[in-house]
Amino acid sequence: MTRRLYYEDSYMRSFRAKVVKVERVGERYWLVLDATAFYPGGGGQPHDTGVLKGSGWVMRVERAFERDGEVVHEGVVEGDEPSPSEEVTGEIDWGRRYRLMRMHTAAHVLGYAVKKLFGMDVSFCGSMLDVDESHCDFTTRITRADLPKLSEVIEEVVKRDLPVKIIWMGRGEAEEYLKRFGEALTELHAGIERVRVVEIEGLYAVPCGGTHVKRTGEVDGVKLLKRESKGRGVTRVRYSVE
Ligand SMILES: [Zn+2]
Repeated sequence: MTRRLYYEDSYMRSFRAKVVKVERVGERYWLVLDATAFYPGGGGQPHDTGVLKGSGWVMRVERAFERDGEVVHEGVVEGDEPSPSEEVTGEIDWGRRYRLMRMHTAAHVLGYAVKKLFGMDVSFCGSMLDVDESHCDFTTRITRADLPKLSEVIEEVVKRDLPVKIIWMGRGEAEEYLKRFGEALTELHAGIERVRVVEIEGLYAVPCGGTHVKRTGEVDGVKLLKRESKGRGVTRVRYSVE
């Protein structure tokens, strides 16, 4: 199991760790470390990129992904061959990650706004985050005329600069807790004992494994770009952050 430093501090940009496994896959290397700040992707949030440095080599991390409880760092190595148990330093591409954290927290604020305007029973049914533009799908009809109303709610939450809290809960406790926000565990949580809940303090909580900013004020400048009907009462909302 890789220790997830991004869960201990989502603002960690650089870290030290030890190499656990080295695999060569064509021109690239796959490295597993005992700890990492690289987010391996998940919940609609893309993986981090960045750099790993060992003694005599540098690896540009193009992709990080999850495999059997471990985070694998994939990239091209320049210099010597990495070896197991050596010490490395890692640095994630902070510009990319910070934008993704803001995009991700904006998705939660948007989710709250949609529930506030269209009802607690409306839920997320997919999201795809990226650096420039992201989108979320909701199980309700949203028209173009609704977008300014949604924006107003979002701006209000941003202005209040509310704390974004991470709470780990037992399964049963999470099920109960999420109900008051109109949320529930999904099939993704089957067999999981401890659930990570992300809460915009007092307003809205969802089970989520992504990285987030600490306060809603950091998500300043959310722009709802457009809405698209995806059929069967589902609407996609596209947005960006400044
Ligand atoms: Zn999330």
